Amino acid sequence: MSTRTLKQIIRSVPASDGAGVQLRRSLGQTPHLRVDPFLMLDEFSSENPDDYVAGFPAHPHRGFETVTYMLDGHMLHEDHLGNRGHLKSGGAQWMTAGRGIIHSEMPQQESGRMRGFQLWINLPAKEKMKAAGYRDIQAEEIPQVTLPGGAVVKIIAGSLESEGRHVDGPIQGVTTAPLFLDVHLPAGAHFAQAVGVEHSVFVYPYEGSVRVGDSEIPRGDAGVLVSGDAVEIVATGEEARFILLAALPLREPVVQYGPFVMNSREEIEQALRDYSDGTFAAVA
Ligand code: MN
Repeated sequence: MSTRTLKQIIRSVPASDGAGVQLRRSLGQTPHLRVDPFLMLDEFSSENPDDYVAGFPAHPHRGFETVTYMLDGHMLHEDHLGNRGHLKSGGAQWMTAGRGIIHSEMPQQESGRMRGFQLWINLPAKEKMKAAGYRDIQAEEIPQVTLPGGAVVKIIAGSLESEGRHVDGPIQGVTTAPLFLDVHLPAGAHFAQAVGVEHSVFVYPYEGSVRVGDSEIPRGDAGVLVSGDAVEIVATGEEARFILLAALPLREPVVQYGPFVMNSREEIEQALRDYSDGTFAAVA
């Protein structure tokens, strides 16, 4: 067994997106700061409504998946196909944009705390133009397991493989075989997880900081790990909360233009034409 150590820290930077939502972007702030197949990770966390209330009015996506995981707050999702979903505290939305959706993501609160993540995961070339699809996962559909080592784990995608336990999360069967865990480590607790040796893996602490081997990963930074078939994480001092992400790399060319992520410049130009002449919505 080989336990993964730290390869690289991707520090998050303040960013603004949508109609002025304040967030922190780690993966995806520049094209080379990605972890194939992960394109982007945004953390939003504020108790000030000025930071989030304007939301994300109608905008398109093509060629990848967006995963929104809501820790606190309430957002309404609506798209041009008539799909509509409420994303509430503890819930997640797994959206396959495929060949195209035009949607809005709007806060349904004018005060209080809004906190969560949006992760972009690339699709393989052969799936980029498939029909759009959604999986809306309510908080109660996400299994939560307390392990003997003290970790409390929520399994959003893939399967917990830890301390002899195997627990499946609601998202299974995605080509990139993603693992998405939300882990709470009380002070002194540790967490170990088996991962595929081929998978890209990163850890993002959002409360407290964690240690992997001899390396500390501070709050708000993404720690990208080297290859190996196991991950071991401990809280440094106080308790910590982090998300652990893993997926199979695609090793394909990535050409991104804002919310379009394709394999070639020609495909991006096609997406822009489809969007501007209105057929983007019609074909989806
Ligand atoms: Mn969006």
